[in-house]
Amino acid sequence: MKSISREEWEKICDNCGKCCLLKLQDENSDEIFYTNVICRYYDLDKCRCSVYEKRCELVPECVRLDENNVSKIEWMPKTCAYRRLFDANFVAKPQKKLKGRVVSQKNVQESELEDYIIDEDDL
Ligand code: SF4
Ligand code: SF4
Repeated sequence: MKSISREEWEKICDNCGKCCLLKLQDENSDEIFYTNVICRYYDLDKCRCSVYEKRCELVPECVRLDENNVSKIEWMPKTCAYRRLFDANFVAKPQKKLKGRVVSQKNVQESELEDYIIDEDDL
C-alpha cells in the first residue's frame, strides 16, 4: 500500500472507541483481557476522544497508531478499521455503537476492573 498523509490516515478511523476500552494483562501468560470500561476521555455521545491532540500526554498507554505499528499491536480490536485495511486474514463483524454497552472509567474503581472483563467479540 502506498504511503498516505496523516490527514488521510486519521479519516480511516471510524471512532468506534473499542481501542479505548481498558484492558488487563495476565502477569503469567501475558494474555490481554478486554473490559467493558472505557477510557475516561472517550465521549460516548460524540463517539470520539475528547482530548485527541493531548491523548498521549494524558494517557501514557494511549498508542499513536501509524502504518508501521498498527499490525504489530496484538490487542487492537479485531473490528478496527485499520486492521481491516492492513490485515487480510480476518473478517470484521458489523460495528455497533458502544454507548449503553460500556461504562466510563470515571465510574469504576481500578481495583474492580477485573469484574468488568468481557469477551471482545461480544462488543
Ligand atoms: S485518551 Fe482518547 S484516544 Fe486515548 S484511550 Fe483515551 S479516549 Fe481513547
Ligand atoms: S478501534 Fe480502530 S477504528 Fe476503532 S476507534 Fe480505535 S483506531 Fe479507530
